[in-house]
Amino acid sequence: EPGLYIVATPIGNLGDMTRRATETLGRCDLVACEDTRVTGKLLNLLGLHKPMRRYDDHASEGAREALLGEMASKAVALVSDAGTPLISDPGYRLVREAKARGIAVTSLPGASAVITALSMAGLPTDRFLFAGFLPNKEKARGDVLAELAAVPATLAFYETGPRLVASLEAIAERLPGREVAVARELTKLHEECRGGTAAELAEHYTAHPAKGEIVLLIGPPGEAEAPDEDVIDAELRAALAEMS
Ligand code: SAM
Repeated sequence: EPGLYIVATPIGNLGDMTRRATETLGRCDLVACEDTRVTGKLLNLLGLHKPMRRYDDHASEGAREALLGEMASKAVALVSDAGTPLISDPGYRLVREAKARGIAVTSLPGASAVITALSMAGLPTDRFLFAGFLPNKEKARGDVLAELAAVPATLAFYETGPRLVASLEAIAERLPGREVAVARELTKLHEECRGGTAAELAEHYTAHPAKGEIVLLIGPPGEAEAPDEDVIDAELRAALAEMS
């Protein structure tokens, strides 16, 4: 069937490729991908040979138009280097445009680092806010953390080894006392999920620099950080009494 197929691929363990994802890649006419070398390797491991086309959301209008045009008669699979496309990866514009044109869009679920981390960290999962990568610059990173500090949900970020300690230190400063988890190298040989306060984890990863890919989780604010209505009322009354 022609259309756009969003296909999740493994985040480090080939065993996480779903049967449906493999069948869909096997049946599609064209694979749109971030990097033809990375996807070429995956297709090879699966014993598939398919035409590939590089695509990301910064591609020219012309390149996107051409790809959308093909979807009228071809099954186009979109994959990213790892995990679920569109989750801190290209695809949003393509999906949006495809839908606007009435092209059939379907998504094949599979691995995603944020969900894998959340489900193993032991932090609340009833509400979570995924915020992609924190900004590189110190000021912008602090601003984002300050903005999210009061959100009553577990916060999830993607992170890289070289930036981990700086991020943990910023969290220790802006969101002190929160439970934090560092989930690293998920689904791979050296998978690790370590919990603690941001200060403890910063100390640990200063002594043992983290390699590889990382998901950073911050537990929701506790009672102490979000005073309840009664406390606020009492404080307001006290303040008013002082004014009169
Ligand atoms: N689309 C992917 C997904 O669904 O998870 C995410 C792509 S994003 C460009 C890459 C980031 O995802 C890495 O920097 C890391 O933060 C996270 N990530 C990917 N694979 C991971 C793994 N095996 N363990 C921990 N984090 C991972």
